[in-house]
Amino acid sequence: MSETATSSEPRIAYVVSQELVKISSLLPSNKNRSFLVHSLINKLNLLSNSTSPQELHKINIISPRRATKDELCLYHDEEYLDFVLDESHCQSATSDFGIEDDCPPFSGLHNYIPLVAGATIAAVDQLVKNLANVAICWDGGRHHAQKTHASGFCYVADCILAILAFKKAPIPAPMGAQRKSRIMYLDLDLHFSDAVTQCFYNASQSRSMPQVLTLSVHYDSPGFFPPSLYSGFPDPKSENFDPLSLSLPLQRGASASTYTRIWHIIEDVQGAFDPDFVIVQCGVDGLAGDPCGMFNWSIDNREGDMAWCIDQVVNKWNRRTLLLGGGGYNSPNAARAWAHLTSVTRGRRIPEDTPVPDHSAFPLYSPSFTLDIPKGNMIDENTNDYLKTLTDTYSGIVKQIQEIMSA
Ligand SMILES: [Zn+2]
Repeated sequence: MSETATSSEPRIAYVVSQELVKISSLLPSNKNRSFLVHSLINKLNLLSNSTSPQELHKINIISPRRATKDELCLYHDEEYLDFVLDESHCQSATSDFGIEDDCPPFSGLHNYIPLVAGATIAAVDQLVKNLANVAICWDGGRHHAQKTHASGFCYVADCILAILAFKKAPIPAPMGAQRKSRIMYLDLDLHFSDAVTQCFYNASQSRSMPQVLTLSVHYDSPGFFPPSLYSGFPDPKSENFDPLSLSLPLQRGASASTYTRIWHIIEDVQGAFDPDFVIVQCGVDGLAGDPCGMFNWSIDNREGDMAWCIDQVVNKWNRRTLLLGGGGYNSPNAARAWAHLTSVTRGRRIPEDTPVPDHSAFPLYSPSFTLDIPKGNMIDENTNDYLKTLTDTYSGIVKQIQEIMSA
């Protein structure tokens, strides 16, 4: 591969392999989801450069490699890795490392961890080497995995490993010099990005050159997973407030109209921080029809829906962008949603009434057998007053970010 993404044409790297699909499909919280996702996207011809090449941005299929233990140790504790990478522990539940309850041991876990981390790192490599402007790894996005233990269906902190890898990327500066890279992590999953936010949280703000900003748009309510000190409504007056570790909590029933109202906040944060790399965790558990049942987000081709938001990021922000998966517990809808996002990334959005092509998973797309994800009828509890308070609070935060970045 000698071509780079410096040409005007966008180029996409898509990470998948048979082994990755096989192993990711074993994830207990999302059994077979990986198979559905990649099969549907492949059957829709979204992974091919052969059809209408003049219309679609070019795509390269990248095989993941296995992350080494040294790479995993950049975040995870060695003791945790010694346990989960040992095949003989595939039946051993233990509270010592969170391998219990919603993160049970499973056959294949010792392969899953290095493969999923390696998949995300392979996507990062493509962006750092400028071989792609957008890289996609739908098997990544495990934003709850902690340094010492598994949590919230997540066993490996690939989002954090991606940020750590981007931090080392050299960015050309004037006069032939180099400067440190800046990475914005935007999390659109229903759940707060607790592990990622905590890893890069810095209350003292004693940074010489800030490199990482995290922003999680999520549902927050007492008792709702995950418990975190950082998931509440932002309070810039608090001494613990870090303007680069941001929470944007939404109320129940958040719909496309609410995302339309808050999108300028996300764009203002992005503009103030001016990142070189953007990571978007595209968890789809906030979409209507997800068993979590908290949000009513849609993907139905209008302003504020999830595909519209990703279209803004990949086609308007003009940053090297990594799209990761995440939550999403209605597997056919997760496959539909990530197919829509893949199509947006390629520059041509697939209509919702597109029939699901015939393939082995076809019966699971009953009763519509189309790419439509029907809207729910949940009431959007994000009132005008609430959204105005969010907007007003964030206008102050954006000024703080501008001050930090120009210091
Ligand atoms: Zn989630």
